[in-house]
Amino acid sequence: MTSVPAFTSTDDVGHYINGKRVAGHGERFQEVFNPAAGQVARRVVLGGPDEVQQAVAAAHAAFPAWSNMPPIRRARVMQRFLQLMNVHCDTLAAIITAEHGKVFSDAQGEVARGIDIIEFACGIPQLLKGDFTDQVSTGIDNWTMRQPLGVVAGITPFNFPCMVPCWMFPVAIAAGNTFVLKPSERDPSASLFMADLLTQAGLPAGVFNVVQGGKPVVDALLDHPDVHAVSFVGSTPIAAYVQQRGVQQGKRVQALGGAKNHLVVMPDADLEKSVDALIGAAYGSAGERCMAISVAVLVGDVADKIVPMVAERARTLVIGDGMSPEVEMGPIVSGEALKRIEGYIDQGVKEGAQLVVDGRGLRVSGRECGFFTGGTLFDHVTPNMRIYKEEIFGPVLACVRVKDFAEAVELINAHEFGNGVSCYTSDGGIAREFARRIQVGMVGINVPIPVPMAWHGFGGWKKSLFGDMHAYGEEGVRFYTKQKSIMQRWSSSIGKGAEFAMPTAK
Ligand code: NAD
Repeated sequence: MTSVPAFTSTDDVGHYINGKRVAGHGERFQEVFNPAAGQVARRVVLGGPDEVQQAVAAAHAAFPAWSNMPPIRRARVMQRFLQLMNVHCDTLAAIITAEHGKVFSDAQGEVARGIDIIEFACGIPQLLKGDFTDQVSTGIDNWTMRQPLGVVAGITPFNFPCMVPCWMFPVAIAAGNTFVLKPSERDPSASLFMADLLTQAGLPAGVFNVVQGGKPVVDALLDHPDVHAVSFVGSTPIAAYVQQRGVQQGKRVQALGGAKNHLVVMPDADLEKSVDALIGAAYGSAGERCMAISVAVLVGDVADKIVPMVAERARTLVIGDGMSPEVEMGPIVSGEALKRIEGYIDQGVKEGAQLVVDGRGLRVSGRECGFFTGGTLFDHVTPNMRIYKEEIFGPVLACVRVKDFAEAVELINAHEFGNGVSCYTSDGGIAREFARRIQVGMVGINVPIPVPMAWHGFGGWKKSLFGDMHAYGEEGVRFYTKQKSIMQRWSSSIGKGAEFAMPTAK
């Protein structure tokens, strides 16, 4: 690993409006922690309706010129942004590790997956190209085009402060919209870093804005008449709220929610590789990924073999400050989240699940105040337990034993979430049936975290997504544009006299 200095700025984190950083009026702040140290590192200014009004006004003013710019010129701005992101990717990753806690290599991976979508957005001229039919009737042609919506907004969670905003703004902006981002209050600095790079790339002032804050900012965006679409990613209750309020206000909304992702291990699976998959996907990023695996579904006699293997590896996870290269799992994002996760472990014990590895109360030497917990493993978890039903969003893996493939599919399909799922098997027929029958939006076959690539689009089913369109990919382009159909003919082919019958091809 190349050595990258830790991000240690103590400056307050403000907004980004009309091409500049804005300090905010200073009346309301929230502390931003370094989770590995368990200490306040800086503060974020909390905006409200006034800042939303300023940002939307700037975005509204920038829209006519930006949307009228030829797509290839907008794509060239994105290409310069792409170059800058590639140059500064490690600095951005260090900012993420400092505020989120995830290990630096994982933060680099997050930035790389965000960059993939910027690359996708650079192809916007091809993506906006409409369809044309010559001679739909004698002398008449018909074509479709996609036009941007106007000002659109994105509201993002703490767990991917670069990648999730990049699911939204590169596609939205390249398509000709102007954007207001409301990042998570817990790790707000990555958004300002990207805003500076966009300006350096030549993005006109007002096309991309950031308003920091919480619910008051979200509500002001949802209610603002000049905001035409809202993309949200976060927990299910807030996603449902955003969807309902946004739709009531006549907006287009895509709201991605929480998850409880299962990984099925079939008796014919390669056990060592299944253990690697479970360990990485359950404990990577301290389980704070919406595609983390939180349930292992162990089919037939697999459980007796695999549980001890997973337990041994979970007990020896290297846990510490995410900037140390040997560390495999960093801290939890906040003290509050740590308490919630350890509360779920208490609950699992009370409900009668077998606690095989207990991560509670972990102290990391030299980082005694950090928000650490160890990897936790439960066996004999049953579907009626809260630790099975609810999203824990921490490094807690629940093993559920089932007798056969059919029971595994039934279990997963009955769960209220449907974000990601995975099946480990060496049988192509089982793999195919699994992919076809499972009621989940993103499926991995011998792939633990099947996050779709930039051009395929991301989205779960059931309570993991509210709205119709998935994020990024061609669905993302459709979400941020509206289709127009044009029919034309010229005077030589226009017949005389009014026609009262429905026009048909002649
Ligand atoms: P969160 O729901 O607490 O916050 C998400 C966003 O909503 C933040 O910007 C936050 O400021 C805002 N918010 C919080 N409370 C609000 C309220 N009462 N009204 C309006 N807005 C509010 O989520 P989080 O803790 O930041 O992120 C973790 C959650 O996000 C998990 O549930 C995870 O599964 C989910 N997530 C889902 C996906 C996905 O693609 N489905 C991706 C990443 C994270």
